[in-house]
Amino acid sequence: MKDILILAESQLNSIAGISEAEVLFQELSEYLEPEDINQLKNVYFYSQSAHSGQFRESGEPYISHPLAVTGILGRLHLDVETLTAALLHDVMEDAHVSKTEISNRFGESVAELVDGVSKLDKMEFRTHADAKAKNFHKMLLAMTQDVRVIFIKLADRLHNMQTLEVVGAEKQRRVARETMEIYAPIADRLGLNNIYQELQELSFYYLFPTRYKVLKKAIKITRSNRQEAIKEVLGAIKQCLEEAGIDAKISGREKQLYSVYKKMLEKHLAFSEILDIYGLRILVKDVSSCYATLGILHNLYKPIPGKFKDYIAIPKINNYQSLHSTLLGPYGAPIEIQIRTMDMHRISEVGVASHWLYKNLDTNPDDLRMQTSQWLKNLLEILSNSADSLESLENFKIDLFPREIYVCTPQGKILTLPRESTAVDFAYAVHTDIGDRCVAVKINGENAPLRTKLRSGDHVEIITAPHAEPNSTWLTYVSTGKARSRIRHFLKTMHYEESIVLGRRLLNQALLSLKIDPKTIDIVQWERIARESGVNSEKELLADIAIGKYLPIIIARRLTLPGNIIPSEHLVNNPISILGTEGFAVQFAKCCRPIPGDSIVGFIKKSQGLIVHTHDCESIVKYRSNSDSWLDVMWGEETAKFFETGIKIIVINQRGVLAKLTTSIAKMGSNIDNVNIESDGAHTVINFTLQVSNRRHLATVIRDLKRIQEVVRINRIRG
Ligand code: MN
Repeated sequence: MKDILILAESQLNSIAGISEAEVLFQELSEYLEPEDINQLKNVYFYSQSAHSGQFRESGEPYISHPLAVTGILGRLHLDVETLTAALLHDVMEDAHVSKTEISNRFGESVAELVDGVSKLDKMEFRTHADAKAKNFHKMLLAMTQDVRVIFIKLADRLHNMQTLEVVGAEKQRRVARETMEIYAPIADRLGLNNIYQELQELSFYYLFPTRYKVLKKAIKITRSNRQEAIKEVLGAIKQCLEEAGIDAKISGREKQLYSVYKKMLEKHLAFSEILDIYGLRILVKDVSSCYATLGILHNLYKPIPGKFKDYIAIPKINNYQSLHSTLLGPYGAPIEIQIRTMDMHRISEVGVASHWLYKNLDTNPDDLRMQTSQWLKNLLEILSNSADSLESLENFKIDLFPREIYVCTPQGKILTLPRESTAVDFAYAVHTDIGDRCVAVKINGENAPLRTKLRSGDHVEIITAPHAEPNSTWLTYVSTGKARSRIRHFLKTMHYEESIVLGRRLLNQALLSLKIDPKTIDIVQWERIARESGVNSEKELLADIAIGKYLPIIIARRLTLPGNIIPSEHLVNNPISILGTEGFAVQFAKCCRPIPGDSIVGFIKKSQGLIVHTHDCESIVKYRSNSDSWLDVMWGEETAKFFETGIKIIVINQRGVLAKLTTSIAKMGSNIDNVNIESDGAHTVINFTLQVSNRRHLATVIRDLKRIQEVVRINRIRG
């Protein structure tokens, strides 16, 4: 980091945004230690150099944006990690800095925060189409294990709203609507009152510019008309409180334009009918002073019935506390008053976070993470205990006690899955057919194994292949009932008949290896062995053999146990033929990926059934000695089935070479299941997982690939 620091220091005076930075650090030094400020300066220099050459739509250097976002959060007195992440919040998306790099430079938790914000950014573009937002809310909150991500996101959105003037009208409306529907309500829920109101006000301005301006003007006129009355009221209140010995800070408060507008809409009122556009806020030292002040004011002016609300006794869902009342002032103008303590006031601005963010700041900064999560828990408690809104209570229970995750389909649809769900669960949740045919998955654009556990906010795209089928190993990691029962069902029914046939072949071969003619086994023996094995029929037993529940050689020995069958020396033991259509009863080893034409051997593995390896596969050498488990197998006649295999291609680095390769592969009638690319400068190694029908097919694919100029070498991957 040092080199960057020196570089940036030397540029201090030549780069715009510096004075903004100075102002920011000045502000932050009000509550942070000098060492924290120095640390943040380094982060700032880093971010500035990452964003260098980038500009906002206004033409300002990009760094002015993260600076402003950090400033908003600094005003909430948030911790150093949050501020660090705020300075860096766009470097992943816009400057392509990796999460690992952030983690190495600034620590794991900062990296998590930045990553969290970046994920939210992506979602914004894909899901605003169904900005009904209920699911979006859920996902947003669920994916944010660390609520500081939401703080940063809200500050980011606020600054974008503050600087929305420069973008086109259509974008203004879209962003404003999204802000109104999604971000403002979240700020409200979190008790970030100032951010909430500013977001709302700005959205209103961009959504309805004319109404906004008309209303603003109307309020201005009314205000000047009422100035005398307000002055009089202020003076009277001050005097009364002084006489009562109550120390109070009184400030005038104008209603938000948007709340005036909303009231006009909801109550079908004309502006002239809205009278309480002006209010007073009175801050006192403790709760008893609040009630005392209320008493004095109610004595001074007549309260309007039905307007009194005691949010001290029953706080709002976001922990807001205050006394509200509306008084009938002189000349009949209603005046809304809010009375609260300084502590309550702070909560109304920073939300419940203030408890932890202020109180414990000097105890141990390392505990901040814990404190944040403590805070989140507290928020949950508040939300769960609040009788205020049953509906939001329900939502929060689901959201923030996340037994569930929320993930996105490529179409932007949001699916709810149980925690621990994998890509296979997702595939089945989308559609049974997708589940049955899934072969690979892309999570947030990156290839990942099907067993990968999904996280809230992931964008998941399932890759299917027409001949793919469920695999028994999926059962070891799926967690939804739907996926599990569907895979079981498939394995049982779709391949029951085939399993029986294979089981019979496996058993016959085992019998032949004991020099016993399968035809000599009679119904009595079958019934005995079925009974002993706890199954209902010969067929069931054969199917069990095929799926590896029993080793064929053991059943063969038990069948012949009484010794009444005489071995014959004339029997020939033929290899078992494999078609590849036996479904899950036969598996092709992942290590060597045999395809028709390869010379193969079978290996029976308990509980997995018959696994087919290539003859020369290295991974099976150690099992050679256990001859009971080995089977002679051969390829049966050709089927339309495709088999998975791997090739490794070394190419010269050249633009467009990957496209040439994939086109060639497709042209030769093969499917690509997976691609993995590693580059080392001049050369690139590309590993393809392909589907081919047999060795001949693979050979034609490779031959065609070799015609491509940039290809240096092609190998089939074995082991
Ligand atoms: Mn941003």
